[in-house]
Amino acid sequence: MNILTQKRKFSSILIFVMILTLFSGCSRPEDSSVESENADISAEEQNRLRSPEDQEKLDQDIQDGYLILVNKQNFLPEDYVPEDLEGLKYFAKDRTPDARFMKKVAADHFHEMVEAAQEEGIDIVSTTAYRSFAFQKNLYNHYVSTKGQEEADKVSARPGSSEHQTGLVADLSTSEINYINGSAFGNSAAGKWIAEHCWEYGFIVRYPDGMEEITGYTYEPWHVRYVGKIAAKEIFNEGITLEEYLEENNLGNSIQEVVKASKRGSDVDTDDSGNVNEADDADDDDSTTDIIYG
Ligand SMILES: [Zn+2]
Repeated sequence: MNILTQKRKFSSILIFVMILTLFSGCSRPEDSSVESENADISAEEQNRLRSPEDQEKLDQDIQDGYLILVNKQNFLPEDYVPEDLEGLKYFAKDRTPDARFMKKVAADHFHEMVEAAQEEGIDIVSTTAYRSFAFQKNLYNHYVSTKGQEEADKVSARPGSSEHQTGLVADLSTSEINYINGSAFGNSAAGKWIAEHCWEYGFIVRYPDGMEEITGYTYEPWHVRYVGKIAAKEIFNEGITLEEYLEENNLGNSIQEVVKASKRGSDVDTDDSGNVNEADDADDDDSTTDIIYG
């Protein structure tokens, strides 16, 4: 009797252990596969959500060079001048006239954006858009000669590393802050409107708050970059930087292709003397350069 009870007990335990093994055996691979799916979901989901029409537009924008990455690691060559630079209609009049240009596609969307803001009683102008290599060089050299190279690197972009050379960028200001460049723009009605709506016109706020380690720049609410409407919408919705977006979509950097595709010389007379009062990206937030729109 005693042996029989023990056998029963043993059988019960054995069955229990088998059931346990069975369950844990089943559930583990399932859990890990769910985890690995989750890790990939954002890129996959991204592609799934993009309609064939949107994908086609994005592919075209990439081909047209609108997703070019220029930053402190990726320089444009000295002789790169964007094609089809077009004069802007809305600009701060006492800034250098050489910087009142954008590539046609960016200029057209910039005008559309500014006019939409105007309909809501908000005025927006560009203080600086296109900046030539020579302009960047003069500005950088000015800082090196007055502050030394170490300080110059903190406040001014090295020639070729300014995104302004792409012709896809504009620094913005508004009457509310007397047309100066600076962080005050972020709290102005124009700055708030831009943060909320610029993606609708294919622009992104290129240097978001807290992303300095990725972009190389502290928060610049006034610096907008044209990337095309599909990328702008996706970057805005995801709350990421251009660098992250390019990596997520395996787009890499297209500087070489964009430069190769651009055979054209300069149509814009660049001022070799430069304008040392014109602040560069890292030095835009400089209240001593009060610019009054005239
Ligand atoms: Zn800028």
